[in-house]
Amino acid sequence: MNLELISLLRWKKFPVLDHGFVCLVDVMGDDSAIVQAARVSYGDGTKKVSDDRTLLRYLMRHQHTTPFEMAEIKLLVRVPMDCWRQWIRHRTASVNEYSTRYSIALDNIYGIAPDAWRTQSEVNRQGSGACFEPEYGQTLTNNEQQFHRQARELYEQRIKQGVAREQARKDLPLSTYTEAYWKIDLHNLFRFLTLRMELSAQYEIVQYATTIGEQIIQPLFPNCWEAFLDYQLGSVRLSRLDQGVIARLAEHGLLPATPQQFLEHQDPAWTTLERCRERDECYEKLQKLGLINVCR
Ligand SMILES: Cc1cc2nc3c(=O)[nH]c(=O)nc-3n(C[C@H](O)[C@H](O)[C@H](O)COP(=O)(O)OP(=O)(O)OC[C@H]3O[C@@H](n4cnc5c(N)ncnc54)[C@H](O)[C@@H]3O)c2cc1C
Repeated sequence: MNLELISLLRWKKFPVLDHGFVCLVDVMGDDSAIVQAARVSYGDGTKKVSDDRTLLRYLMRHQHTTPFEMAEIKLLVRVPMDCWRQWIRHRTASVNEYSTRYSIALDNIYGIAPDAWRTQSEVNRQGSGACFEPEYGQTLTNNEQQFHRQARELYEQRIKQGVAREQARKDLPLSTYTEAYWKIDLHNLFRFLTLRMELSAQYEIVQYATTIGEQIIQPLFPNCWEAFLDYQLGSVRLSRLDQGVIARLAEHGLLPATPQQFLEHQDPAWTTLERCRERDECYEKLQKLGLINVCR
């Protein structure tokens, strides 16, 4: 274990959003701890045919996951409650959260800058589209700030009037920050990062996941991180149907294909559908692989 690196990272607050942060409290294990655990199953022989990095990459590629559970990290995080609500769905972590029954709620609220208000996406019901014009965004921000002030004032008034903290908090907005200790093993952390660094996840949680990955996991577990980027986050999963589309286009010498050629060689099950998410996703995968040529 690189103790010097760990002491540099521990308790360092990496800022996220306007008032949030992630901070490493503790770490157990490193790349070699995972290799050491894996070699129990393969025996000494593996040392000769495979160095540590190669073995880690093999484990990640073949989803031999338990060796990655041998390492753990514990973080202290400060997160807006709506973002925390998504975060807490990852059940394989141990959590202890700041109690607003016991203590006064943090006086930090996540605010949106005038140029950062996002429109509702027209293609993805769960996602965002382009940003509003800053002029309109300014109005949204002004209204937001007024509402935040009122909500906080009401909360503090109730506390002064002797209302129980557990009841006084009920009208605080979901944008109020909370803090928690969050401990998770590396295998389940990588699952969290796969889901929450993906661009279809909400912008706010993507910022947290990316900070954890790039600022904390990358330096502590460089070989695991590299394998994670290569085989999980950066990989493209091709279904049997996707492979069929590629095979048909290749058979007719149409790669890279135009959007029209893609449609002509789509999966037969999609042809009658006016809207088809699976077809759209297949198109995006082919685009990512450079197999669609929009200019032809
Ligand atoms: C883009 C996006 C949109 C989402 N939208 C919604 C939504 O609209 N509504 C909603 O409710 N949720 C939503 N979620 C949350 C999602 O359904 C998962 O609950 C969340 O991502 C946690 O994933 P997980 O269960 O794999 O993680 P973890 O809870 O950390 O579990 C990791 C793995 O452990 C195993 N595991 C854990 N617990 C169990 C168990 N009890 N039984 C069997 N296996 C278990 C599973 O293999 C699981 O994949 C969304 C998530 C994302 C990323």
